[in-house]
Amino acid sequence: MLKGKTALVTGSTSGIGLGIAKALAAQGANIVINGFGDVEGPKAEVAALGARVGYHGADMSKPAEIADMMAYAAAQFGCVDILVNNAGIQHVARVENFPVERWDAIIAINMSSAFHTTRLALPAMQAAGWGRIINVASVHGLVASAEKSAYVTAKHGLVGLTKVIALENATTGVTCNAICPGWVLTPLVQKQVDAKAAALGISNDEAKKQLLEEKEPSLQFTTPEELGALAVFFCSPAGTNVRGVAWNMDGGWAAQ
Ligand code: NAD
Repeated sequence: MLKGKTALVTGSTSGIGLGIAKALAAQGANIVINGFGDVEGPKAEVAALGARVGYHGADMSKPAEIADMMAYAAAQFGCVDILVNNAGIQHVARVENFPVERWDAIIAINMSSAFHTTRLALPAMQAAGWGRIINVASVHGLVASAEKSAYVTAKHGLVGLTKVIALENATTGVTCNAICPGWVLTPLVQKQVDAKAAALGISNDEAKKQLLEEKEPSLQFTTPEELGALAVFFCSPAGTNVRGVAWNMDGGWAAQ
């Protein structure tokens, strides 16, 4: 379905981003991977699906590096048809104890980076008359939790940005939507599981169970594969008039 299209997925060396990159690659899209840590493993996983794969290691907190990445994608692949703004980090602390440097990093990586990639990707999408912008927000773009001030602020902001981009392009073939996952068992959440297990002196399995019981009525983690399938739907012909939604996949979390 996506043969000939190029998808750039930020933060796709791990977790949800890698899941979405693989789902788009399975539909025939070329993929530009971005993120830190092991690069060769994720590149090989995506290439195994038949995709042409590129990589750029831009730090999403740095606008100049983001511009460099977008120029790389255009030079290597022609243009970015599908932009998935996924890179994100977390820090958990009460507002009065929140490190200022962590606040700035979360706002930059989880929110402002999507403004920078999008402003640079839009002109070519508009000229082509087709584009898909998918922002990986969170259920925390819709509701709040204590001790996650920067994350909740950034994700609410990202949902707002999603709506504005959708409206500004509503009469064109360019759509913009947000995905709002509940708990997904990636390294980002495993850190929170480990912290809970250590703080309460409980096993890893018990910590996972308690995390789910606190927030997610289905008592199940959402998977990167399920989120990848939702991204594919946004790119499908049936997704043409889906504009500016914040679609939660959260086991009922935000329904409470
Ligand atoms: P993860 O830690 O597995 O992956 C994060 C990715 O972002 C990695 O590839 C990492 O290298 C990259 N990254 C981090 N900082 C970066 C930077 N400065 N520049 C470029 N890349 C950077 O986490 P994940 O759980 O897959 O999270 C992906 C997205 O999904 C995030 O935006 C997160 O907020 C969101 N999300 C996650 C969950 C969850 O439960 N895991 C729930 C809702 C939303």
